Amino acid sequence: MTQVFQRAKIVATIGPASSSDEVLHDLLKAGVDVVRLNLSHGDHESHSQVIRRVRRIADQQRKFIPVIADLMGPRYRLSTIEDGPRLLEAGQKVTFGEGDVDLPVEDAEFLDHLQMDERILIDNGLLELKVLSKLEGRVEAEVVHGGHVSTRKGINLPDTDLPFTISEKDRSDIAFAAREKVDFIAVSFVGGPEDLDAIRAVMSEHKSLIPLVAKLERAKVIENLVATVRSSDAVMVARGDLGVEVPIHQVPVLQKKIINAGRRWGKPVIVATQMLESMMTQPRPTRAETSDVANAVFDGADALMLSGETAAGKFPVQSVATMAGVIHEAETFRRPKALALDSKRPEFLVPLETEQKYLTGRDVHLEIPEVVTAAAVHACDRLNVSQIVAFSQGGFTARMIARYRPATPITVFSRNIEVARRVQLVWGAQPVLMDHPVNHHDEVVEAVDRMLVQRDLAQPGDTVIILMGDPIDKRPLTNLMRVHRVRPA
Ligand code: PGA
Ligand code: MN
Repeated sequence: MTQVFQRAKIVATIGPASSSDEVLHDLLKAGVDVVRLNLSHGDHESHSQVIRRVRRIADQQRKFIPVIADLMGPRYRLSTIEDGPRLLEAGQKVTFGEGDVDLPVEDAEFLDHLQMDERILIDNGLLELKVLSKLEGRVEAEVVHGGHVSTRKGINLPDTDLPFTISEKDRSDIAFAAREKVDFIAVSFVGGPEDLDAIRAVMSEHKSLIPLVAKLERAKVIENLVATVRSSDAVMVARGDLGVEVPIHQVPVLQKKIINAGRRWGKPVIVATQMLESMMTQPRPTRAETSDVANAVFDGADALMLSGETAAGKFPVQSVATMAGVIHEAETFRRPKALALDSKRPEFLVPLETEQKYLTGRDVHLEIPEVVTAAAVHACDRLNVSQIVAFSQGGFTARMIARYRPATPITVFSRNIEVARRVQLVWGAQPVLMDHPVNHHDEVVEAVDRMLVQRDLAQPGDTVIILMGDPIDKRPLTNLMRVHRVRPA
């Protein structure tokens, strides 16, 4: 019997409730695969400490745990509301903007872009205003849905054509992420592919090629969905802001569309926000929350994310354990629907920028790895295969296999620790870091025999499929599939 493992991955946001050695240790034990740092909160020094701790504890537990640094992005907020919280009532007229107004904002640059009749949403959309007129440095607005407003509440402008801006804070956070060599950078409030390019331009000043997670949380990006997914390295269904920026009843369907787009283009998809929200304060989740987790698994998400539950809640470890339990039960019941083989023309597939440096020459035939990985998945249906092993330079092959959500576990053999970590975001994929260089296929096969058995991932006599690029020293894309019977040591 080989060990069972979870296919959908768990991302945990680390914050005050979870940044100690003890809690981090327990979180990883409970099943966290990926860690997120929300750069909207905290300072570089404390984030840097958490990164060091995570790496040390992961080493101790012999795990590979990638870190996502999540940029704040163009997030607008109210500034100080004197004698708040203040009650606003429907029909009331208020001034909003800079200087002496009812509702002062932190950074007024966006005011120019606001137009008549557009909505101003405050505090996760709980309050709604409508712009009546534009004045110098302020607007006059009517309260549509009232409620209490208080200091620093977030503002969403779903109707406004806002340019994507990179603030000084974001620039300094990108420099920080590059210095710390985090594994992914998450980009908030992306509107389209050009916004990812803008972030990459800043990253290139730091000679950084960290892959980008595009957070899909604006109405505008949904119109550019395919282009954005294609130019991202991974995507997040950021349901928190998305549910404010688009009509909330669309969120479940958008979740499915985004997951399908991610699978089609071979990009990992993270489903985020409020998955076990009630566990912020209670040790047991609501029934609806457990259903939400299970349904994200059935949708075929690569990863499910916890935010406040692990960052600031009272039950961070229980939240992860609960999520792991629901994922396990869901996966035991059924796998996500398989992607139809050869359904899409492969030349549209693009390798990640980080992977391109591993690809030889300009003439990259992505049809070849695409066809070879499809053949491997097909072979698993016919033969009793216990592992698909991808000998991978950059992780591309793993993503290509994971598109099919195969029943057979995917193991990625790599010489590169960064690849080993990043693979953790991919559905059903687990990394094995190779302990010595390989110059020939036979050495890969030997390493597979030895390391799979050592790790209890296969037994002697099991059939495994090994995917490689030949000739190995030229580092081509995967073009070789070997059906192999694991040999005893
Ligand atoms: P956030 O992003 O938690 O950084 O706001 C996720 C979301 O909006 O759902
Ligand atoms: Mn958000």
